[in-house]
Amino acid sequence: MDLLNWINGAFVEPATGRYLDNVEPATGQVYGRIPDSGPDDVHRAVAAAKAAFPAWSRLTAAERSRILLRVSDGIAARLDELAAAESKDNGKPLKLATTVDIPRARDNFAFYATAILHDHSETHDMGVSGFNYTLRRPIGVAACISPWNLPLYLFTWKIAPALAAGNTVVAKPSEVTPVTAYLLAQICADAGLPNGVLNIIHGTGAGLGEALVTHPDVPVISFTGGTVTGAKISAQAAPLFKKLSLELGGKNPNIIFADCDFDEMLRTTVRSSFANQGQICLCGSRILVERSLYPRFLQAFTERVRALRVGDPSQDSTQVGAVVSEAHRDKILSYIALAQEEGGEILCGGHPVQLDAPYDKGFFIAPTVIANLTQDCRTNQEEIFGPVVTVQPFDTEEEALALANATQYGLAATVWTSNLQRAHRVASEIESGIVWVNCWLVRDLRTPFGGIKSSGVGREGGFEALRFFTEPKNICIALGAH
Ligand code: NAD
Repeated sequence: MDLLNWINGAFVEPATGRYLDNVEPATGQVYGRIPDSGPDDVHRAVAAAKAAFPAWSRLTAAERSRILLRVSDGIAARLDELAAAESKDNGKPLKLATTVDIPRARDNFAFYATAILHDHSETHDMGVSGFNYTLRRPIGVAACISPWNLPLYLFTWKIAPALAAGNTVVAKPSEVTPVTAYLLAQICADAGLPNGVLNIIHGTGAGLGEALVTHPDVPVISFTGGTVTGAKISAQAAPLFKKLSLELGGKNPNIIFADCDFDEMLRTTVRSSFANQGQICLCGSRILVERSLYPRFLQAFTERVRALRVGDPSQDSTQVGAVVSEAHRDKILSYIALAQEEGGEILCGGHPVQLDAPYDKGFFIAPTVIANLTQDCRTNQEEIFGPVVTVQPFDTEEEALALANATQYGLAATVWTSNLQRAHRVASEIESGIVWVNCWLVRDLRTPFGGIKSSGVGREGGFEALRFFTEPKNICIALGAH
């Protein structure tokens, strides 16, 4: 499948005339090309978005809502096609794309299409002196930049609130997983989204990132991706006083106390470790287990992990698909080698998985569990973002918290205990933007979402995102003398 940029309501060739190969992770084969766009494409897209802004921002919330609900319906109508495209593009099990990724993309549009109808702004009564009220107005052209791990889910999580709030958008999906973004453009066109309101350009961060991030007509940027990229974007955007939201990497702790519901914890911990091949920013990658439970946990956990079925992503029985690219597979394998150099013991996995043709050149890695590492080693400090977890025992709650908090990251955490007070106490002490107690990935879209420390700046989700994509203006009224 060959893709094109979508600018001002038309599918267009990149101004560069260059294309990149798109590789299917499960087979390792090139199956299409995507535009390798450059600064000229950014300028065209931003100009289209700028021209579309006055009319789009002046529509009523109800008018924007109706169009965005049609986009949501369009995603629902093409759910199977989108899920198949996403599984092929990313390597993830089709079942996951069908039950999680694409329904969530549909819900993102429905959520913001309706949230905008219920948004309100504040009035502050100063008694006889007067009153103030706050107008929240869309900012202008928003840049929305997203990663490859949950391609359409995260892409729409940015675009939907930006559009709902009345901004126009230039969006860049990851060059590694571009296909569902391309299909979204078709859906938006069919839904009657006016030309230029959303523009989607494909290419690399190196090729077009700086032109987009530093463009003078782009006052607001929403980025999800790696911490190193986030730092680079921050350095480029800060001197230009752009509004910036950064959702970055993580190294999430999963703290398991001996008094937990063991079966429920075990079932969920297998999922929270290896869902999407461990390539969800919220996966728990450092499993901390109270020492009295440690031997039982290791035995039961490794037994379950060994039984996970790695294979053809299109099969319903497949639990672990391919990791996203050859380069990413090699990075993950290099971390497994590093863990062994650091004294780690591989309890299961630790190697690529060789499948039969046509998957014999695919990027498959056996789910890997590593023990006997200290908290300060690189394996426990750096984000691996693959099917690799470490396990460590702890003796006290204080020690568990110290281990949990001993990284630069602060995205997500999980706590397993049946002690109510301890659950609340530990949850409040963990340095992360979100903590799950006795569950994982259960989250209401109305809640603010984001990381702290090196995991991010700002919050997405709920009304926070509508706030992010608007600028408040205070109007101050004096009532005057009687
Ligand atoms: P990445 O940082 O390499 O790329 C993310 C996006 O930024 C891509 O579209 C890429 O082309 C673009 N990009 C790269 N350099 C750029 C530049 N200089 N200017 C502008 N854009 C640039 O990340 P990735 O490898 O695609 O994704 C994996 C990372 O994303 C992991 O670190 C993961 O934890 C993180 N992530 C975080 C969250 C969250 O909510 N915190 C969610 C999902 C993924």
